Amino acid sequence: MSQSPKIQLPKCRFCNKDLKHTFINLGMQPLCEEYVKPEQLDKMEPHYPLHTYICDKCFLVQLQEFISPSEIYDNYAYFSSYSDSWLQHAKEYTDLMIKKFSLNKNSLVAEIASNDGYLLQWFQEKNIPILGIEPASNIAEFAIKEKNIRTEIKFFGEEIALFLKEKYGQPDLLLGNNVLAHVPNINDFVKGMKIFLKPGGVVTMEFPHLQRLMEENQFDTIYHEHFSYLSFTIVSEIFKFHGLQLWDVEELLTHGGSLRIYGKHIEDESKPITNRVKAILKRELIMGFNNMEFYSKFQENVKETKRKILDFLIKAKRDRKQVVGYGAPGKGNTLLNYCGVRTDFLDYTVDRNPFKQNSFLPGTLIPIFDPIKIKETKPDYVFILPWNLKNEITKQHSYIKDWGGKFVVPIPELQILD
Ligand SMILES: [Zn+2]
Repeated sequence: MSQSPKIQLPKCRFCNKDLKHTFINLGMQPLCEEYVKPEQLDKMEPHYPLHTYICDKCFLVQLQEFISPSEIYDNYAYFSSYSDSWLQHAKEYTDLMIKKFSLNKNSLVAEIASNDGYLLQWFQEKNIPILGIEPASNIAEFAIKEKNIRTEIKFFGEEIALFLKEKYGQPDLLLGNNVLAHVPNINDFVKGMKIFLKPGGVVTMEFPHLQRLMEENQFDTIYHEHFSYLSFTIVSEIFKFHGLQLWDVEELLTHGGSLRIYGKHIEDESKPITNRVKAILKRELIMGFNNMEFYSKFQENVKETKRKILDFLIKAKRDRKQVVGYGAPGKGNTLLNYCGVRTDFLDYTVDRNPFKQNSFLPGTLIPIFDPIKIKETKPDYVFILPWNLKNEITKQHSYIKDWGGKFVVPIPELQILD
């Protein structure tokens, strides 16, 4: 009997145990935001394993770190203020926090990964002192110069927490949206929050919920910069380990289904644990989040989704139909690279973002054009890659019905929309 070559097992980023079990292996893939310029077409593209593991001791679903955040954020181009719905979400959050925790001119609100100040600006408008912490220097400088948002250009962790505490004092509200899943050293990060947070203060964080990823088959939200895939239970455990306790939680619709958690110091007895916390812990326990078998089912769902997508595309091409893509989001790249879909199936894709137009999708090298191209070529099928925006897209481009065109959505399951 042949044996596979001996490999060194990766370690869990929370509990340091060997990772022996695959959650889902999406193969070797390029970084999903590295769009290819025409002059780079015949150059080599770096590919890294997109292989997620589940730890059999603590049940953290995770990817190894192949690319360091400093490389990712060196010239990061995502400005949060470009998204209207995200700005609105931030405004509503701000109003809720001010009311809930009676924040005023004597408080301090600090945000980790504060981006261009899209959120802190609303606190500033109400004369509440703020501090942003943002690693991407081009975005942080924009926040400082254009929006007058006090910002430290830093990666957050234990060492920085000590420095910030000394320089600015401790925050009453410490927040971080879509950052917890993106830090490679989650222990150092949470330890830093324990140090920085004022006694009696509140931490809030938002992150995509693993339950929604699994239930709705959102495997394309797995990408190299997204290191941890989080349940409420695992986040409670990590916080507890570092002396913080989750005392409230809300379920949100953002990013395909997110959690907003509320944390406090374990020593702080002024905030009772809500029934919502008890209910979600119970629900995750019943669903099987502390059971290896529960996680093993996901792989088969993903493989079946790939087969369905390929079935559709093969049939469409045999029937001599033209299929094109809509959108060039990071998640589309994970999906297309995993399924091996190139210009043999999708002639091209389109995107409203002018910075993406006239370049190519990483890995699959599918060209990206202005959406006007759809009107010019009149395709039979338009394959929507940012499935979370399908209502908006089908409404904006309903004219494809004029020539009998149809929209197709791949996730949670391939569906041809009529
Ligand atoms: Zn572990």
